[in-house]
Amino acid sequence: MTFPTIKQVRAHVVRGGGADYHDQGDGHWIDDHIATPMAKYPEYRQSRQSFGINVLGTLVVEIEAADGTVGFAVTTGGEPAAYIVEKHLARFLEGHSPTDYEKIWDQMYFGTQYYGRKGLVVNAISGVDLALWDLLGKLRREPVYHLLGGAVRDELSFYATGARPDLAKQMGFIGGKMPLHHGPAEGEEGLKKNIAELATMRERCGEDFWLMFDCWMALDLNYATRLAHRAKDYGLKWIEEALSPDDYWGYAALKKAAPAGMLVTTGEHEATRWGFRMLMEMECCDIIQPDVGWCGGVTELLKISAMADSRGVMVIPHGSSVYSYHFVITRHNSPFAEFLMMAPKADQVVPMFHPQLLGEPVPENGRLKATALDKPGFGVDLNPAVTLHRPYTH
Ligand SMILES: [Mg+2]
Repeated sequence: MTFPTIKQVRAHVVRGGGADYHDQGDGHWIDDHIATPMAKYPEYRQSRQSFGINVLGTLVVEIEAADGTVGFAVTTGGEPAAYIVEKHLARFLEGHSPTDYEKIWDQMYFGTQYYGRKGLVVNAISGVDLALWDLLGKLRREPVYHLLGGAVRDELSFYATGARPDLAKQMGFIGGKMPLHHGPAEGEEGLKKNIAELATMRERCGEDFWLMFDCWMALDLNYATRLAHRAKDYGLKWIEEALSPDDYWGYAALKKAAPAGMLVTTGEHEATRWGFRMLMEMECCDIIQPDVGWCGGVTELLKISAMADSRGVMVIPHGSSVYSYHFVITRHNSPFAEFLMMAPKADQVVPMFHPQLLGEPVPENGRLKATALDKPGFGVDLNPAVTLHRPYTH
């Protein structure tokens, strides 16, 4: 059967403020004294932008087939990822069939392994892989979730990540995950403040609403264990990414030391089947949270997810909007999804990838019907009002 081959791969960046979701202005909850591994340095404690969380910016990968059909994807990685896509990865796609995503992924990964394996390179590979799935869906005139096996439920239900779980509850979400504001460098005083914030939200949200802490790699084992035990009194559902992603031993110890019934979650900054195999074989967590735009794309997430399913580990992907939704709706072991509240005060639902994407579906009353995903590919368009720059060509 003939299928149009890939004619060209193009990598673009978006210049200027707001180019990625970390690049938000003053007063946004996402950059308001959030605990981080850099918070031990007082000069980098108030803002994640101060230590450079936003330096890379957005990457937009386009893949054009010989018949003119274009698939695309948006992730992070900016100019350095654009360089890797143009100068290195494009060769594994151009002239080949978009149906051959397994071979293409294998060549992208092993062709870059000597300097890649994780981080920026796998971020770039993920962007290409997502654009490839978008292209495949458009060529086959089917939504990506059909290509992944079809919906296993009629709708997605969401928890909200943001500073206001109390408002998220009113908006129909099943839970609210708050950023932790104080890390070990702020001592007992900071720990008390963290617990006080949880207590306030428990008071406002009632007994049954899920409340979680996202610790963004900021803690050490001792602090994380003490936080978990103090938070138990307020029904904390899970403690997320408490430790460095390299500290598999710490996570294994934290999972053993956490109060019964409290879940330990991590994986947002982990990549590939091998990274997640380590998390699972060392029994580091109850839920893994791969970001499909960072962990290797959909092709790799399928492998990670199958491994998790066999071990009774849930897969709740980190953010990533439609790129996650099309996956989550197809997996039994991904029973709900994350929605990142991008409104500065976390007081309304706005599209996660605004302004880059047009047609991005958002939850209503904390839910999204599978039918809202019923468009070819990932079902979104690039906003022509956003100017793309192509810094490198090949
Ligand atoms: Mg997180």
